[in-house]
Amino acid sequence: MHVVAVDIGGTKLAAGVVRDDGTIVDQLAAPTPAGTDAEALFATLTGLLDGLDRSGATAVGVGCGGPMTPGGEAVSPLNIPAWRGFPLRQRLAAHCALPVWVDNDAKALARGEGWIGAARGARDFIAMVVSTGIGGGIVLDGRLLDGAGGNAGHIGHVIVEPDGRECGCGARGCAEAEASGGAIARITGRPPAQAPVEIRVRTGTLVGRAIASVANLLDVPLAVVSGSVALGYGETFFPAAQAEVDARCRLDFSRGTRVVPGGLGADGPLIGAAAVALANWRQ
Ligand SMILES: [Zn+2]
Repeated sequence: MHVVAVDIGGTKLAAGVVRDDGTIVDQLAAPTPAGTDAEALFATLTGLLDGLDRSGATAVGVGCGGPMTPGGEAVSPLNIPAWRGFPLRQRLAAHCALPVWVDNDAKALARGEGWIGAARGARDFIAMVVSTGIGGGIVLDGRLLDGAGGNAGHIGHVIVEPDGRECGCGARGCAEAEASGGAIARITGRPPAQAPVEIRVRTGTLVGRAIASVANLLDVPLAVVSGSVALGYGETFFPAAQAEVDARCRLDFSRGTRVVPGGLGADGPLIGAAAVALANWRQ
């Protein structure tokens, strides 16, 4: 059995065919068109899909930036201005003539990490992406949390510095406003990859602080972190995050919470999208 996987990001669109053992058998990618033409963006996506051999595929799974209405009926990715209330699920279903399931890209990645990644076999964990922004998805009692509007796991807006920098959401001191790639670029005036060691340590510390709040609140003893900032600062980032978690998680159940790198690398978004399709298909 195999499914079609689609990843819709602010810089890149990707589509692939993924077997139910997690093997990606074919994939294509294209830069996300800039501008505000919703149909031009959709045409780029369908161009990728039509370049794949989709014969025999049973379903389509999609990971897409949020926010969106439940099930991806109307998506409005913050970093893709061309789509505001775009009816993504219905349009893809019509194009592919297959059942389509859409979820937030960070929640999709959580499914992928739990399937064949660094959280494989874990019943309780948070998967995070620390890149230009910060996102996350939480698996609790073996189930991916959706929440009232499908937005559970938005760890980027956990407060890590009271009265800190203003966030795009309107609050102050969110993890995303202090420790994302976008925040680091604003703080240093340089690309995140050129940040000095103090910033790398601080980024790990603040992400660890957010993880500690989640671990204390929800009894999730594992955080799997990927994204260009976390992995790019890896040798500095992970020890700093772990040290902060060790300092802040002092309850019997949260002591020992671990922070580890994601296990899927560059395949994560497509594996996650495939996991969205497979999880819903099997229900
Ligand atoms: Zn915020």
